Amino acid sequence: MKQYDYLIVGAGLYGSVFAHEAAERGKNVLVIDRRPHIAGNVYTEKVEGINVHVYGAHIFHTNNKEVWDYVGRFAEFNRFTNSPVANYKGELYSLPFNMYTFNKMWGVVTPEEAAAKIREQREKAGITEPENLEEQAISLVGTDIYEKLIKGYTRKQWGRPCTELPAFIIKRLPVRYTFDNNYFNALYQGIPVGGYTKMVESMLDDSDLPGTIRVQTGTEYFERKEELDAKADRILYTGPIDAYFDYKLGALEYRSVRFENETLDIPNFQGNAAVNYTDDETPWTRIIEHKWFEFGKDENGNDLPKTVISREYSSEWKVGDEPYYPVNDEKNGKLLLAYRELADKEERVIFGGRLGEYRYYDMDQVIAAALAKTREEFA
Ligand code: UDP
Repeated sequence: MKQYDYLIVGAGLYGSVFAHEAAERGKNVLVIDRRPHIAGNVYTEKVEGINVHVYGAHIFHTNNKEVWDYVGRFAEFNRFTNSPVANYKGELYSLPFNMYTFNKMWGVVTPEEAAAKIREQREKAGITEPENLEEQAISLVGTDIYEKLIKGYTRKQWGRPCTELPAFIIKRLPVRYTFDNNYFNALYQGIPVGGYTKMVESMLDDSDLPGTIRVQTGTEYFERKEELDAKADRILYTGPIDAYFDYKLGALEYRSVRFENETLDIPNFQGNAAVNYTDDETPWTRIIEHKWFEFGKDENGNDLPKTVISREYSSEWKVGDEPYYPVNDEKNGKLLLAYRELADKEERVIFGGRLGEYRYYDMDQVIAAALAKTREEFA
């Protein structure tokens, strides 16, 4: 008999949901994470009374009722709705692209006028079948919006011009002929009250569960792989799939992000949680002002006197950096398939999550994937 039924490598959302589901079925699991804390990239930390999203802003949004109900078991969600502002050389525009944006850009007043403007620009550009992000963007919103709000931002975020990026990236963003600044097309949206760390803590809390969850942070799997593997029957690995195989077929590419955090002795820096700097020259892509995810208040409803901001810089990932966004192009797709073949041969090991599957997952998709996997595992 092994000490644990499962060793779970990574205490992020995928690992924590899986751990919870396993313990609910009476299993005993050991969750490890190399970082000194749980919650992976959704980790939040309190600074000056503000829950700071340490690894980048995370706004929970989903159309999946099952997932929404599921997270609701672990946290209460506030009514935050993401509506970033775009700053193009000091001109401010509403995001996502909607009637407020079109009015500011062209002075158009009706949806019909906006649609006519976009059609005129698309036709002038001569695009019929968009083949890359630039063509996709122009055909959706025309050249003016592409030039001011998309081109520079996207180049900074992905480190390559829009002509070399797949069209699907921009399809994440809604285009609306209504006055609606809600960034997401999602029925359910919000931020967990008290921060994401608290929510994940609650997932990993086994006090009312038939099984047990032991959590060991600050534990680097690959330094003690043999010893850790020997403790459990099965393993769930949520780290980078290529790292598991010591990059032996080559490294998959990621975009990494670097944050410059500042605590300011003023109550309000930019008046919104997210401001995107969409020009090509500003070195950061966006500035997050964390307090606005919770309306500038502490848990007792009092106004917070200070503010914490994070400037976000996008960079090419190299071994040793934090991997954030998978680069889903053809080359990486092929390499991923080759790693998957190796992964299929590891009979005791499940590969899951954004890094384990190398997928540009939103939080709700990660949770849905983890729930689907547990159903398969415990069928
Ligand atoms: N995007 C843009 N301008 C903006 C915001 C987004 O051009 O002001 C484009 C950009 O190509 C980006 C994509 O939309 O990669 C998806 O943005 P999203 O905000 O969904 O990315 P995430 O929040 O995951 O970083």
